[in-house]
Formats: sequence, C-alpha cells, structure tokens
Amino acid sequence: MSSSTNKTTYLIVGSGVFGASTALHLVKSSGPLPKVILLDRDHFSAPRRVAASWDWNKVIRSDYASSPLSTKLALEAQQLWRTDPLFSPYYHECGSYWASHSDFRDVADRNMKEGGMETGGKVYAVDEARLLYKGVFKDGNYSQVNGVLVNTKSGYAEAKEALEATIEEAVRLGVTYLTGEVASLLFEGDDRLRCSGVRLDDGTAIEADKVILSTGAYTAKLLMDSAPHNPEIHAGDRILAVGVTEGLSVLTPEGAKGVRMEELPVAVNDNPRGKGFEVGCQPFPKLNSFKYWGNMLFRNTITHPLTGIAISAPPAGPDYSQYVVTPVLERDVLSAPRSIFGPGMAEYSVKEQIFRVCWDAVTPTRDFVIAPHSGADGLFIATCGSFHGFKFLPVIGKYVVEMLSGELDPALQQKWAWDREVTGDYGGKDFIAEYRSFVPEVMST
Ligand SMILES: Cc1cc2nc3c(=O)[nH]c(=O)nc-3n(C[C@H](O)[C@H](O)[C@H](O)COP(=O)(O)OP(=O)(O)OC[C@H]3O[C@@H](n4cnc5c(N)ncnc54)[C@H](O)[C@@H]3O)c2cc1C
Repeated sequence: MSSSTNKTTYLIVGSGVFGASTALHLVKSSGPLPKVILLDRDHFSAPRRVAASWDWNKVIRSDYASSPLSTKLALEAQQLWRTDPLFSPYYHECGSYWASHSDFRDVADRNMKEGGMETGGKVYAVDEARLLYKGVFKDGNYSQVNGVLVNTKSGYAEAKEALEATIEEAVRLGVTYLTGEVASLLFEGDDRLRCSGVRLDDGTAIEADKVILSTGAYTAKLLMDSAPHNPEIHAGDRILAVGVTEGLSVLTPEGAKGVRMEELPVAVNDNPRGKGFEVGCQPFPKLNSFKYWGNMLFRNTITHPLTGIAISAPPAGPDYSQYVVTPVLERDVLSAPRSIFGPGMAEYSVKEQIFRVCWDAVTPTRDFVIAPHSGADGLFIATCGSFHGFKFLPVIGKYVVEMLSGELDPALQQKWAWDREVTGDYGGKDFIAEYRSFVPEVMST
C-alpha cells in the first residue's frame, strides 16, 4: 500500500467474523454514513488466509450450557442464518448429535426451555442414540458418555463463502477494504493514552478516531508489540492464543460406505477423554468430504523479544505455518472419525486429506471480548471467539456497534468486559495450564 495519512472515523483491524460483521453493521447503522476502514493482512478473497473464520465449514448451533444469554444470542444468529438472503445460501440445517460425558446436554436443554425458547433438542440415553441416523454412530466410542443431545435445528455454514459475502456486502455499502499488516498501534498522550491509529509494517500510518482490534489469535502479541513497556496495554492473562488441528477428508465417490452424507448431522463426541477437549465431524456433501477437529488444544509460548515476557502467539511467518502439521497432530485429528463412527465406518475410502492448524483467541470464561480497552481511549477490542465465535457472524457486529456507542446491555457489558470476574466453572482454574505447550518434542512424538 502506498504511504498516506488517512483520517478516518472507524478503523477495524482484522476481517474475520468479528471485524467483518462489525463493518457491515457500522455501515448499516442509522445516522450519517460513517467512514469505515476494514484492514487485514490478507485480501478477503485470497486463496489462503490465517483467519480462524476462514474455513471449509463451521457448526451453527444454539445449545449452550454456559448461560441462557449465549443461547439467546445463538438463536438470534441462527434465525438470520435461516432467513437473511445474505447468509441463508450458506446455511445447511442438518442437525447435530452431541455425545457428552457431562451435564452439558441437560443444562443446554434447560437453558432453552427456561428462556421460553423453541429448543429442537432432545436428550437420548446412549443405547437409544446408537439407533438414530440409521445406526451410523452405533460403533462410536461411548466409554465415558452418559447421554446424547440431538438437535434437529442445528447445522453448519460454508464458512469462507459466508465470510466473503459479508465483506463484499459491507464494501458495496461503503466500507473501504485495505490489505496491510499492522506492526503496531499508534498512541498519543502522556498521563492518559489515546490510540490514534496504526502503523503498518511498511511504515504507513493510518489514523482513526476509533480503532477496533478484531485480530483473533494475534491480539495479545499485537498489544505487546505496540506498547512493550506499558503493561496497562498488554492482554496479560485475559487472552490466550490457542491452536487446534482440523482435517478435511475428501472421499472417493463410493467412500462413505453407502451412507448418504446429506442425511448426516454434525457430530461431536467427548471421547477419548484424557487427551483434551471434544472431537467433532461435520459432513460437507458439497466437497464429498468430512471435516474433523481433534481434541488437543495447545498454545505456542514464545518469549517476547522486547519485554522478555512469555506470551502465546500463532507461529511467526506469513501464514502462521498453518499447514505444517506434525504426525502427532494428524493422529489427533484422525482419532475424531474413529471416536464418532467407530473403527469400521472410519475406514472409508479417502481420496485426499488436508490438515491445518487453526488459531483462535480464547478467554478464561470462553466469553468474547467486546469492550473498550481500559488502557487507552479510542481503542476497542472485539474478538476472542474462544472456539465458538463463527456462528454469530450475522449478529455480532450489531453488539459491537452498541458497545461503541455506549448502548450495550449491562449484562452483555459484564459478560464481554475487558476486565471481568472469572467465576463459576472457570473460576480459580489455571487457565493457561489447561492447554499443552506447542513445543516440538510434545507435538512430534
Ligand atoms: C478449527 C476451528 C474450528 C472452529 N469451529 C467453529 C464452529 O464450528 N462454530 C463456531 O461458531 N466457531 C468455531 N470456531 C471458532 C471461530 O472460528 C472463531 O472464534 C472466530 O472465527 C474468530 O473470529 P475473529 O474475527 O476473532 O478472528 P479471525 O477469524 O482469526 O480473524 C482475525 C483476522 O485478523 C487478521 N490479523 C491479525 N493480525 C493482524 C495484523 N497484525 N495486521 C492485519 N491483520 C491482522 C488476520 O489476518 C485475520 O483475518 C472454530 C475455530 C477453529 C480454530
């Protein structure tokens, strides 16, 4: 990009789900058309992007055990996935099958009912569940599972396509899309800092009244790079960059062993326990594929060169080394079909297999951050999808706009605060230690 100093109203850094949805809702908000720049290191139609939001497909569900507020928000989003012509072409309501070892399914079901929300969900005992979907899951691993939540109103979205369509619509309505890598934020003021824009790695300065960071897994690193000697700006233990491996298995024409992929739901299985979090499988008939994710979630801890502070960040390099997938991570992803379908069905005939490590920003409560940054005026954070943020693409920007104008509901302000109390299930736990370290000796054995 050529050098210029450009005074803007809103500068959104990062065009994943959070940035794209914010840009769209800003230009659609009432009042005079604001000047909005959406800036990302990658063009939105680039053949490869590092964004967690850039993916083959993503689960769209409204079963949440964490709080009825999350359920309500997910239902709001899901309704738009079904009905809004911008999103509905990419949404497929195939249902979901969640084999769980905890009381997740009961709480998720209760959250729906207590909120007077139309559930679509039903809890099955394991033996009953094995018979569903023509028995395709009957040989799965249910060793520590004590119930299955089936929700016929869940599904998946074609992620890359929906994200690109959202950005194209924002641009059509007046948003300026720029490609460039932000090296640091610009600050002015002595006693109280004000963020006045960003500096790109080629030295270009872009000024703005309000800077919104939607930089996903890179957020904590960018904040530390920008103000190495000011801990007030650092994310500290609020945000952790965490990776997970995903895989796409493209089947031969006869690959699915007679099972019609169009009839399968999204499936999640809490087994094998002890290795980490749950594994999942999303059917993707369009590519005659299954997409999986493994159950090892990991951090990549580096020593920050300017502060000496240990921080988790995506691997350095233009594409986060996302296609460098070690054998242990491949085995981790491939445990997903065995856990979900059982060994027989998992040995379907595969034509091509693609593996990728995907990085997201995670908070201690797994709630997003949608809030002013307490260390500088003019700086706002809207990111931290915590591995469940994609489904909110149609609505999340509306709430970011409310936050920017000081109109966000107090309960949501508290839920998505920069400084929050960590209580309930997550209180008192060593948040960072829950994730393995992405060191070669752990990941390559
Ligand atoms: C494997 C995997 C599976 C998932 N499955 C689901 C699912 O099924 N359903 C669901 O709801 N959620 C799912 N999620 C979570 C969801 O994808 C994320 O929470 C969400 O996409 C995060 O969006 P974001 O906008 O915060 O970040 P991202 O999508 O990561 O976007 C951040 C953007 O910031 C840009 N950026 C970063 N640093 C800079 C810089 N310095 N300069 C310029 N640009 C920069 C990046 O290029 C990127 O485009 C999954 C996540 C992963 C990793």
